[in-house]
Amino acid sequence: MPIATTNPATGQVLKTYDPMSDEQVDSAIERAHLAFRQLCDDTTVAQRGRWLIAAAELLEAERDETARMMTTEMGKTYAAAQAEVTKCATACRFYAENAVRMLADEPADAAAVKARRAFIRYQPIGPVLAVMPWNFPLWQVMRFAAPALMAGNTGLLKHASNVPQTALYLEELFRRAGFPEGAFTTLLVGSDAVDRILSDPRVRAATLTGSEVAGRSIAQIAGRELKKTVLELGGSDPFVVMPSADLDRAAEVATTARCQNNGQSCIAAKRFIVHTDVFDAFADRFAARMSALRVGDPMDDATDVGPLASERGRAEVHAQVQDAADSGATILCGGELPAGDGWFYPPTVVTDLRPGMRMWAEEVFGPVAGLYRASSYEEAIEIANGTSFGLGSNAWTTDPAEQERFAADLDAGSVFINGMTTSYPELPFGGVKNSGYGRELSAVGMREFCNTKTVWVG
Ligand code: NDP
Repeated sequence: MPIATTNPATGQVLKTYDPMSDEQVDSAIERAHLAFRQLCDDTTVAQRGRWLIAAAELLEAERDETARMMTTEMGKTYAAAQAEVTKCATACRFYAENAVRMLADEPADAAAVKARRAFIRYQPIGPVLAVMPWNFPLWQVMRFAAPALMAGNTGLLKHASNVPQTALYLEELFRRAGFPEGAFTTLLVGSDAVDRILSDPRVRAATLTGSEVAGRSIAQIAGRELKKTVLELGGSDPFVVMPSADLDRAAEVATTARCQNNGQSCIAAKRFIVHTDVFDAFADRFAARMSALRVGDPMDDATDVGPLASERGRAEVHAQVQDAADSGATILCGGELPAGDGWFYPPTVVTDLRPGMRMWAEEVFGPVAGLYRASSYEEAIEIANGTSFGLGSNAWTTDPAEQERFAADLDAGSVFINGMTTSYPELPFGGVKNSGYGRELSAVGMREFCNTKTVWVG
């Protein structure tokens, strides 16, 4: 893929970049390696926290122009981009305020291990390669970078090729906030450079948010090199609606959960599994709300859904919908490719899905909902868990016993009851099955790239 900014609302290429040479990449790795030593030897967690607060202040001060850049590069609505910048500032503040506690030595039961003193220490491991996607171009990076830098690691960012301006902004952000040269570096390279970078002995680990294909490739390289990885891959999150649910509220949240970020979120609810007793009532409400969303210019305040990020992405989404329609599924709304410039796609609801259709098994990365009927709790769980993914999940029920069952039975990295799956700096984030492994955010995420060192003193 060329490294370029192309406006998805118009299809116009605005700026192209030459990829960095191997020599430029090598010197960036060396700077990251030296900066790691500098962070470890010459800085404290408290000092790094002050730099992260400075980064938060810059983000807040520059929110609007940063949001405009993101909207131009990948098409999310301006309002959503503004919210993303604010969320990044919040995460910086969270880690600045909590890292001292999260990284503090943890005393162990010395007597039980026949020691005079025993404890656990969390130490950084070195430069970490972050391969990141375009869908939340600031947030996906920040949720890696804020805890990694606080822990004393350094970051090498290989961002998606369609968001180079956001990638360069991130490097500048951390430099202007006070972090030393090399603490966080953007590598403008294609995905073909990842093998060479991750094979470099100075690079100690990798984190990826992206597709399964990219995940398998990075895991393979990291396996060969015996390096730690955290993988946050796709999802096809279930959104189960039971008879006791508040249907109006469930339909409202379902619409947001499916169409947030123009339908391109790993934790978007994608499969809506509704108990047969309330199926028709929910379907009517949901299709009405989905059809009422306004699709258009992402810079316009009145727009709910902007364009998809790429022409290829839109073609893929439409092919998945057409495959379902051709095999006998029913389209309740949307499903038509609009004429004109830009990679817009209408909010779409598809029902009567069956195994064998692409939408049954694949993630749909656009504003397209699959609607499934379940005759019982057991059938709802069977459909919900019947995919290769396991990222987030949602269940709507006011019955406390049923809430407990969903929390236990949904096979996913998170279960949200009567609410939309969201990431919070305070809570671990990640998946099971083909949605990946490892966790981001909270203390758990920060410690993924730490040496959890046992210290035993006799
Ligand atoms: P990719 O996985 O292709 O891109 C994500 C990042 O990985 C980019 O930086 C990309 O670089 C890089 N990359 C791609 N292939 C490789 C590889 N073989 N080795 C190393 N790095 C690689 O996602 P796409 O943008 O193509 O989207 C495809 C699908 O991925 C979506 O439809 C969706 O299902 C899923 N996805 C999930 C996301 C999530 O949040 N979990 C985010 C984005 C996508 P480059 O841009 O240079 O190709």
